[in-house]
Amino acid sequence: MSKRTVGVLGMQGAFQKHLDAIRACGHEALWVRDRDEVEQVEALILPGGESTTVGKLLDRWGLIEPVCRRAGEGMPLFGTCAGMIVMARTLEAETGQPRLRLMDLVVRRNAYGRQVDSFETDLSLPCLGEEPFRGVFIRAPMVTEVGEGVAVLGRHEDGIIFARQGNLLTAAFHPELTDDLRVHQYFLRMIDESSA
Ligand code: GLN
Repeated sequence: MSKRTVGVLGMQGAFQKHLDAIRACGHEALWVRDRDEVEQVEALILPGGESTTVGKLLDRWGLIEPVCRRAGEGMPLFGTCAGMIVMARTLEAETGQPRLRLMDLVVRRNAYGRQVDSFETDLSLPCLGEEPFRGVFIRAPMVTEVGEGVAVLGRHEDGIIFARQGNLLTAAFHPELTDDLRVHQYFLRMIDESSA
């Protein structure tokens, strides 16, 4: 695959590790904070953090329109954890927070409870091969319902934790907090599919 430029929205939360993961895959990583930078990238990652804050900053920085437009034109977009919440069309407990609302998902915030708000577990994600993927969950959401166009790529207990709708990918866990690059590599392959 030729060298690609992948953006990571860096407003709040765990964005540095995503930049590192893209570089470790051999591609250019761009820290994205404004509209011009959204236009420069071939794919974009929306990292974890606090979804209410991420949504407000997206709104304040005028990024909702350009990100939705580019995703609508086929640019691959990957939301992890809070990014999943921001990409979901519907929240079980709607808060009215600004969001992209791009994926046909119903999402439950803090789905694993506040008692055990962080945990790690081996996930079986067949699209990445047989080797389990170490899932790091931090006050993670889960998908409770998906629309017709959504492919479920992984589950943990009762919840869907990895899903794809065309050029849109989402994970409830934090692949950037492991050394395993397979989720980022999967996302990078989506760039070639979208430009094929
Ligand atoms: N619980 C956070 C929220 O609802 C998401 C946590 C995360 O991104 N690690 O926004």
